[in-house]
Amino acid sequence: MRLVLLGPPGAGKGTQGVLLAERYGIPQISTGDILRDHVQRGTRLGIQARSYMDRGEYVPDGVVVSMVMDRLEEPDADHGFILDGFPRTVAQAEALERALEETEEPLTAVLKFSVGGELAVRRLLGRYTCPTCGRTYHMEFKPPAEDEVCDVCGSTLERRADDDELTARRRLAVYREQASPLERFYAERDLLHQIDAEALPDEVVDRTMGVLEALP
Ligand SMILES: [Zn+2]
Repeated sequence: MRLVLLGPPGAGKGTQGVLLAERYGIPQISTGDILRDHVQRGTRLGIQARSYMDRGEYVPDGVVVSMVMDRLEEPDADHGFILDGFPRTVAQAEALERALEETEEPLTAVLKFSVGGELAVRRLLGRYTCPTCGRTYHMEFKPPAEDEVCDVCGSTLERRADDDELTARRRLAVYREQASPLERFYAERDLLHQIDAEALPDEVVDRTMGVLEALP
């Protein structure tokens, strides 16, 4: 199962990626995680990437493509993978297509999670992460038992740095500009499947698996 997840920030792609990865036993590869890892370790690519992320802009193709291709060569991705946040552009999609052609393992499907703009913003704005154990919460949709305290380890939760409203709206606008050509690219290859993501995560994952199981 080799999947690409598309959809605006706040569509719940990250959550769907985690749930699908569990059900199919394949890694969920998030460009965000790869980027944050490079930034945290202060690699050359990480420092470059950071200057773009700080402005709410996307990191250039060349940087992202090399990070992702390296990651796909790791052994846990031998039997499939779920890409979240990549490709973002047609140029990246073409680079991915070429790389997968070489391994004769093309994509199985591209899933587009759709959600209305205002719901996407609400989902983006309330996100909290535990700095100690990495668990994620949402003020409105998935609150911890006690305000701003991690249910699992008791640490004080932190807001994601890129989740202020201006940045969220800018990310949505940038996404809309870039997404249409990418969706067309995959639709032309009969790979694109649209999933209505305005529901609870478990319901969305059931819908998604229904679509995947109906594939020839
Ligand atoms: Zn925690």
